[in-house]
Amino acid sequence: MSRVNPNYLQLKSYLFTGIAQKVAAHRNAHPDQKIISLGIGDVTHPFIPAVVSALHKAVDENASLAGFHGYGPSCGYPFLREAIAQEYARLGVTVSSDEIFVSDGAKSDVGNIQELFSPDAVIAVTNPTYTVYIDSNVMAGRAGEALPDGRFSSIVYLPCTRENGFVPDFPERATDLVYLCYPNNPTGTALTREQLAGWVDWAIRNRSIILFDAAYEAFITDKDVPHSIYEIEGAREVAIEFRSYSKTAGFTGLRCGCTVIPKELTAAGPDGAPVPLNPLWNRRQCTKYNGCPYIVQRAAEASHSPEGRRQIAEALSLYHGNAAGILAAAREIGLDAFGGINSPYVWLSTPPKMSSWAFFELLLEKCALICTPGVGFGSCGEGFVRISAFGTRENNLEAISRLKQI
Ligand SMILES: *Cc1c(COP(=O)(O)O)cnc(C)c1O
Repeated sequence: MSRVNPNYLQLKSYLFTGIAQKVAAHRNAHPDQKIISLGIGDVTHPFIPAVVSALHKAVDENASLAGFHGYGPSCGYPFLREAIAQEYARLGVTVSSDEIFVSDGAKSDVGNIQELFSPDAVIAVTNPTYTVYIDSNVMAGRAGEALPDGRFSSIVYLPCTRENGFVPDFPERATDLVYLCYPNNPTGTALTREQLAGWVDWAIRNRSIILFDAAYEAFITDKDVPHSIYEIEGAREVAIEFRSYSKTAGFTGLRCGCTVIPKELTAAGPDGAPVPLNPLWNRRQCTKYNGCPYIVQRAAEASHSPEGRRQIAEALSLYHGNAAGILAAAREIGLDAFGGINSPYVWLSTPPKMSSWAFFELLLEKCALICTPGVGFGSCGEGFVRISAFGTRENNLEAISRLKQI
C-alpha cells in the first residue's frame, strides 16, 4: 500500500476552518442576523480603473492571431519585471529585472522558497506569525516533533509581545533562515529603519538568510519605516524579498506577486563553497511553474503607472480610514490596540483575563462580528484578536458602532 508523507499528518488544523465552523453554527442559530466579518484578510475594494482597462485591453489583444499569448516566460514577462525594477528605483534601491521572479502571489513563493535550503536547515519565525512559514516547513520535514503546546521542536520561535513592542529579539543561537513579515500580519506593527538594519546586521554576522515578506509595504505611512529590506545597506547579501499585488491592488482573486533574489545572495554548497540562489530559484520555477497569466501581468503593470498608483493610494486610504476608526473605537471602550497605522490590521487586546477564543465568541454572540483569535497565529497571540480593516466603509462603520455597545 502506498504510504502518505508523514509530515502532513503533523499539520495543525487550518485556523480559518475552525472559525468558519463556529460562524456557521451561529448563523444557524440566528438566521436573521447580519454578521460582519473583520476576520480573514481579504480585500473588498473593486479593481481600480487602470487595472480594469489593462485587463480588457489584454483580453482583446489575445483575440487576434498576432496578439495571442500562450505559455509565457516562467519568471515573468520583461515588461512587468522592468516595471517592478522601476518601482524599486523610486525607493532608491537597485534591483535588476533578472533578480525579480513574477509569480501567482506571495503565498506560493513564501511556501515554496524553503525548497532551496537543506532539509536540516534551522528556521526561525516570529510568534505570532503568518502560519504558511511554519506549515511549509512542517510539510518538508524540517519542523521536528509537534509539542503538546502546539509548537514544533526544531523551529525557533521569536516572541513578539506587548513588552517588546512586537519587535522580536534576535534568536539565542544562529539559525539558517529567519522569516520576517513587516508590516506584520497579524500584529499590524512595523519595523523602523534602525530595527530592520539590526536584523540585516544580525544576518550578516551569523551568515543567516532573512526571508522578508513585504506583502503590506504599500500600507506604510511612517517615513521611518522602510518599504523594502534592500533599503538597508548589506541586505542584498542576506535577504530574499516577497511582494504581492493582493492587498495593494486588490489582486487576491486575480493572483500576482514577485520574489526578489539578488545575485549576491548565496548559501553554502556541500563543500562549503557559496552557491548563488538566484539561478536555483530560476531552475525551480522553470521546472514547477508555467508563469502568471499574460493578462494578469498586464494588469499588474498598469498598477505601477502614475494613474494606477494614484488610484491605489485612494483605495488604500479607505482601508487606513477603517483602521483608524477601529483604533479609536477600541480606545473608547478601554481596550489596548496596536498596529493599524502602517497596516490594515489592528491587534486588539482582549479584556483582562479573557482568552482570544472567549473574546472571539463574545464578539460573535453579542455583536455578530467575526474577528480572528490571535492565539491561532501562535501562543504569543493569546490575549489578542486580529481585526481587519479590509471591509467596506459601510460595514466598518456598522462594526464600530456595534463594538462601542459591548
Ligand atoms: C496576504 C498575505 C500574503 C499575500 O499572499 P498572496 O498569495 O500574494 O495573495 C503574503 N504574506 C502575508 C503575510 C499575507 O498576509
